[in-house]
Amino acid sequence: MPYELNNRLVVGVASSALFDLTESDAFFRAEGEQAYREYQEEHIDDLLAPGVAFSFIRRLLGLNDLRKTSDPLVEVIVLSKNDPSTGLRVMRSIQTHGLSISRALFTQGQSPYEYIGALDMSLFLSGNEEDVKAAMALGFPAGLAMTSTSVDEEDEGALRVAFDFDGVVADDEAERIYRGEGGIDAFRDHEAAKRSVPLERGPLREFLKDLNLIQTVEEEKRQEDPGYKPRLRVSIVTARDAPSHERAVRTLEEWGVTANDAFFLGGIDKGAILKVLKPHIFFDDQRGHLESTAAYAASVLIPYGVANESPQAEPQQSSVEGNATAESGTAPEGAATKEPNAANVEEEVV
Ligand SMILES: [Mg+2]
Repeated sequence: MPYELNNRLVVGVASSALFDLTESDAFFRAEGEQAYREYQEEHIDDLLAPGVAFSFIRRLLGLNDLRKTSDPLVEVIVLSKNDPSTGLRVMRSIQTHGLSISRALFTQGQSPYEYIGALDMSLFLSGNEEDVKAAMALGFPAGLAMTSTSVDEEDEGALRVAFDFDGVVADDEAERIYRGEGGIDAFRDHEAAKRSVPLERGPLREFLKDLNLIQTVEEEKRQEDPGYKPRLRVSIVTARDAPSHERAVRTLEEWGVTANDAFFLGGIDKGAILKVLKPHIFFDDQRGHLESTAAYAASVLIPYGVANESPQAEPQQSSVEGNATAESGTAPEGAATKEPNAANVEEEVV
């Protein structure tokens, strides 16, 4: 019988999000593909250091102890544009770090993200901006792991996941109103009038739903064993505030999706909240917000909707993930374009 994916949470991760490939990438840029290939062979047993998404992935996989090993709740699959040979070091590092990842796609220079749908993934994480945008263009849920300086503090295997709401969990309808001629007043009126009309789903709605599935299993376990403390906690951190908060709450209810916490910030800096909340990963559709959160959480850009339609600085790099095709310009993996887009750093509501 084939290994079924549709009854678990499946995440795709590029090596650029899982590991810090700064050194490999610098070598590739300086020496070219052939030398890079030899370099990776020579360093095959050198452990790659954790990257932006490492801690999130490790903790997510840790939840697999909720079910038997042959039927895990979480499946993480490596999606890489490396070829199988240069990918060996990545797989060795995965093993040495003790991550239970056994499945991987190495598609030399091609687009592994085309397989996101076939693999039932509700999230794909990469440090390569071009790949993330291409995956999004195909309608797949993809996030760009931004440079992050947060440090993971050990604490009993908890996993805290935080989401922005508009343009991430929900679509960008409200953001479009806000950015229209009427600005914030039109946004507030619109959202108040539509308070009981659920928004359309955004790119990470299914991922949130999958997390809820794990929470259901945790709750069942807690009922069997009152001493069990649920480890997965989900938070919404949004710039919506009253009265526009109601539509967000109603939308989640209508979908049958839940969050443990909701922060309706009305423009308060999200970084200040994340400093206390300490999520292991945070998703937002606006670069400007992630600039302030990157010190406190692995921060992931969901390049979706109107917030990402304004002219952006072109990606300054591809990366090792793109090296097999020797795409022009490479740079450290996981290091997304750092320059904030002026249009995005202005006052943003949702
Ligand atoms: Mg947003």
